[in-house]
Amino acid sequence: MSFGATEGGTLVDIQNVTAYRGSNRVFDALSLQIDEGCHTAILGQNGSGKSTLMKLISKEIYPVANPESHVRVFGRDRWNVGELRCRLGMVSHDLQQSYLSGARGVNVILSGFYGSIDTWQNQAFSPQDVERAEAVMLRLGIEELRHRAFGSLSTGQQRRFLLGRALINNPDALLFDEPTTGLDLKGTCSYLETLRSLMQDGKSVLLVTHHLHEIPPEIQRVVLLREGRVATDGMKKDVLTSRLLSELFDSPLEVAERNGWYQVLPAG
Ligand code: ADP
Ligand code: MG
Repeated sequence: MSFGATEGGTLVDIQNVTAYRGSNRVFDALSLQIDEGCHTAILGQNGSGKSTLMKLISKEIYPVANPESHVRVFGRDRWNVGELRCRLGMVSHDLQQSYLSGARGVNVILSGFYGSIDTWQNQAFSPQDVERAEAVMLRLGIEELRHRAFGSLSTGQQRRFLLGRALINNPDALLFDEPTTGLDLKGTCSYLETLRSLMQDGKSVLLVTHHLHEIPPEIQRVVLLREGRVATDGMKKDVLTSRLLSELFDSPLEVAERNGWYQVLPAG
């Protein structure tokens, strides 16, 4: 099955993967392939395995070792995690929670070079690195906050700094795990604008969300996860239907579409 333009190879190739979080088996023989350039949204109830899937892809967690299974990213099984982070940026609610509140804005961005939380004395940054951090802050409209402590920023500002941290390496692909959680409507809209401009710049995007109205028109494919299994996988217009979403969320729902944007309402 082909899903829209392919600009390169395969971004993610998951074959027959079993994965645990603690003693919970989240995936049992999961298989999923996503091509570079095919912007994809992942939907599912709480606990269906969305964040675990993102962490498998970013190699924050590993599957049960088995010769018949693999998690290949950009065509490779084995990665130096630092090298992978340069090609694959991740923005998640988890990271925001665990980020050090004392870190200064510019250092949050620079920490992306090392995939660290804050910057440390043993890390070196060239004038070009600092220049690049400035350019990223300018693009995201946060340059005036460069000296502020992370903990003193609003949720939306923190989220932008974490996106900047991911963008500092100019990654080919970005993983977003519920990127608009906690943002007000203005913050959500402006975050979505940024997301769209990144897709238009040719970054491949994998987006986990609960909110249909936050799936931009550029997203081509939608995967529905249910209890660690791919329940449905296909082109967005074929997947975002009242029937399939009512089944996924065990609730009667009605889906509406306008200008490439979707909305969901309680049915009846
Ligand atoms: P989602 O992101 O779709 O809400 P997750 O991938 O976070 O789901 O979680 C999948 C399952 O794994 C859930 O049953 C959750 O309770 C469990 N889980 C997640 N994180 C942990 C953890 N650190 N320890 C134990 N179980 C976990
Ligand atoms: Mg999650």
